[in-house]
Parts: sequence; structure tokens; C-alpha cells
Amino acid sequence: MKHSLKIGFSFGLTSGIITTLGLMVGLHSGTNSKLVVLGGILTIAIADALSDALGIHISEESEDKHSPKEIWEATTSTFVSKFVFALTFIVPVLLLELSTAIVVGIIWGLSVLSILSFNIAKEQGARPGG
Ligand SMILES: [Zn+2]
Repeated sequence: MKHSLKIGFSFGLTSGIITTLGLMVGLHSGTNSKLVVLGGILTIAIADALSDALGIHISEESEDKHSPKEIWEATTSTFVSKFVFALTFIVPVLLLELSTAIVVGIIWGLSVLSILSFNIAKEQGARPGG
């Protein structure tokens, strides 16, 4: 995978999952309202994804070794990855009872993160978990 896309994908995915999980757990125990949790997920999917994409943009720009095209690829893939992965958490909230949806969300999020870190480790030639 290209450096710019890999940066955006791995950062957007990780941050999308961890931020959304933290928010779901917090809002669930604070409000116990599906609507509030859905609103929170949407806010992360849009506002937080934009702010992360901007952060990646500035960080890639400051490396001073990428073309504008590569920088924008990293920016866009960060936004899209975080947007998409944050939105996946809407599915269990819509389909299940809220406390069940939180558990399913945690399992889903941690599984995706393990797959990602396994693949990164594999790509770097390291032994998984080592
Ligand atoms: Zn870079």
C-alpha cells in the first residue's frame, strides 16, 4: 500500500475505533439514550474525522518530503477511514439493545484493531505479537 494511503487508513481506522468506543461507553453510562449515542457517533464520523484529517495533512506537510498529491491522499484517506469505521458502530446501536450494542461494538472494534496490527506487524516482517 502507498505510504500516503497507509498513513491515512491506519490512523483513521485506529482513531475512529478508539474514539467511538470511548464515546459510546461514556455516553451510554451517562445518558442510557440511543439517540444521544447515535448523535455522538455521527459527530465523531464527521467533525472528529475532519479535524484528524487536518492534523495528518499538517503532519505530512511538515515532513517536507511528499508531493501535494501525496499529502492530499493521506488527508482524504484519513477522513474516509475514520468516517467509515466510526459509522460501522451505528449498526449494532440501531439493531440491538443499547448495552448489548456497546459490548458488540467493543468486540468488533478490538477485532478490527487486532487484524490491523497483525497486518502491520506482518508487513514489517516482525512476528505477530512479537
Ligand atoms: Zn509521510
